[in-house]
Amino acid sequence: MAQRPGFPIKLDKTSPAKRSATLSAQSSASKPAAAPVTKPLPSAKPAATAPVSPQGLGMDSSAVRQRMVQKLAAQGLKDPMVLQAMGTVERHRFVESALVTQAYEDTSLPIGLGQTISKPNVVARMIELLREGADGKLGRVLEIGTGCGYQAAVLSHIATEVYSIERLKGLHEKARANLRHFRLANVHLLFGDGMLGYAKGAPYAAIISAAGGENVPQPWLDQLAVGGRLVAPTVTASGQQALMVVDKTPQGFKQSVLEAVHFVPLKSGIS
Ligand code: SAH
Repeated sequence: MAQRPGFPIKLDKTSPAKRSATLSAQSSASKPAAAPVTKPLPSAKPAATAPVSPQGLGMDSSAVRQRMVQKLAAQGLKDPMVLQAMGTVERHRFVESALVTQAYEDTSLPIGLGQTISKPNVVARMIELLREGADGKLGRVLEIGTGCGYQAAVLSHIATEVYSIERLKGLHEKARANLRHFRLANVHLLFGDGMLGYAKGAPYAAIISAAGGENVPQPWLDQLAVGGRLVAPTVTASGQQALMVVDKTPQGFKQSVLEAVHFVPLKSGIS
């Protein structure tokens, strides 16, 4: 199938020093329409990274996903929109072929460059927290740590726009290759340091981090909309990581620390 024009593109025409992230649209996003093409289109080769053989699962992947969703529900996850999204996104398309048979297990899996895709339970739990109290889809969501792109794909079903930023070029490219198949018009992949957030998309109804920091970076708090919620693994006083939930209210920030988690570290800079 033909590639869309203008892909990948750079949104930003300011100097590199001022630029915190470059954006490559997954599809015909509205904003970048007039931006110049800065690189040749990537070839649509059956990427070395691509697993994509549902046969590797030995059965219809949709049935396996429904079983995964039933397990998530049995574990206490109950937001219908999140469960529906988890049942829709083909997780096996995001992992290496050798791991395809484990794609619907409740386990984290390596995605290259020392990083991991979070286990389905954690992805669903964090997104459920983001949506708590929300009616219908969320507005713009910022994800820090695109990784293989799986969580961004899940988020695309519960938010109107998803901005997802990754600091490792190799994974940014891998996510772009993985997501191409899904043609998600509302997912915008950014290459940059997510500790700076992405001011151009702000304010965000929700911010979710897939990497654990020592604290919550100030730009995330600044870029969160009033009424918005942030969920991020953060190191607590005990030295362990826990899920941190921050609500930005008209009266100020409200913070709660939830269960212990284990995420790859949030790092500054790009590589
Ligand atoms: N959501 C991902 C999980 C990836 S693991 C998925 O579904 O696959 C977390 C990712 O966060 C890693 O890819 C890591 O490189 C990235 N990361 C860590 N610090 C970052 C930063 N400052 N900005 C952007 N990405 C970061």
